[in-house]
Amino acid sequence: MKILVTGGAGFIGSNLCERLLDEGHTVLCVDNFITGSIDNIQAFIDHPRFTFLQHDVTQPFESDAEVIFHLASPASPVGYLEHPIETILVNSVGTHRMLELARKNNARFLISSTSEIYGDPLVHPQSEEYWGNVNSIGPRACYDESKRLGETLVMEYYRQYQINVRIVRIFNTYGPNSALEDGRMIPNFITQALKNEPITIYGDGNKTRSITYVSDLVEGLMRAMFSPNTTGEVFNLGSSEEHTVLEYAQMIIRLCNSSSEILFETSRVDDPERRRANTTKAQQILGWERKVSMEDGLRQTIEWFSKRIGQYSTIS
Ligand code: NAD
Repeated sequence: MKILVTGGAGFIGSNLCERLLDEGHTVLCVDNFITGSIDNIQAFIDHPRFTFLQHDVTQPFESDAEVIFHLASPASPVGYLEHPIETILVNSVGTHRMLELARKNNARFLISSTSEIYGDPLVHPQSEEYWGNVNSIGPRACYDESKRLGETLVMEYYRQYQINVRIVRIFNTYGPNSALEDGRMIPNFITQALKNEPITIYGDGNKTRSITYVSDLVEGLMRAMFSPNTTGEVFNLGSSEEHTVLEYAQMIIRLCNSSSEILFETSRVDDPERRRANTTKAQQILGWERKVSMEDGLRQTIEWFSKRIGQYSTIS
């Protein structure tokens, strides 16, 4: 099929493009590199079924795609705090443009939303029915609230024009092709541990997170896009294995054979206390569940990071 991936030079997008090419699809990747990198698509940039367009998706462009994965958006706090207006625009104007394209082409459409739409959740774990607890004027709102608006736009295109849409709320994902210092927990900890630098924990380390390896996430995106009974549906994709931030730091130090110490710094504004996906719906409708264990995923990620950092590291 002819498939458009916006944000295809980013962490998740580049892993998705690779998977789509492996499955025989023709891929148009559109990215303006605001947080992505050419390095992420270098391995397949000359592939005969791959086309890259450096472009901002808030601006018009033509495509005859039959399937649209709309992933473009800064995703890490470092990215969206540096580019708050661009983040709002890509999730609102950019989403509107991609929905219009889906309408014109009669294409299948998927938007990558986020667990951040649940804000600092008052319900635990979070299922798709939970409406969230978001501060609409805080520094993170450029991301949370624009993703919420993006979801609203998608559902209006579904209700008004019967476009073949689905929303995927992605929880913390990690793996190869994530930016080394993108500010998120796993890339930060691995980079610091491999360099034997102090590991920075914001807060006392007792906040909890659940993490998903990128190949599992990509499998979930594929199933959400192509499985029956997904039109107009919302799916959480994440892990139900919950650990404290301190436990992640300790595990990464161990796997990297690192001598890093742990430094505790002031919590970031509006950083949620607990985050864990309820993925019952994805299991039931998509038959999706996590395959890669946390330790295996972390080992593969550490190996990739250590090559990128270009410094020898023994994986225990
Ligand atoms: P990323 O920053 O690595 O990738 C996003 C890509 O979108 C980048 O390559 C960036 O250059 C591109 N982009 C941004 N604005 C653009 C624009 N206006 N036009 C064209 N390209 C643009 O982030 P990621 O982690 O790969 O996230 C991908 C998607 O998944 C995002 O929509 C994000 O909100 C969502 N998500 C990711 C996570 C996670 O843990 N990684 C969690 C929840 C949701």
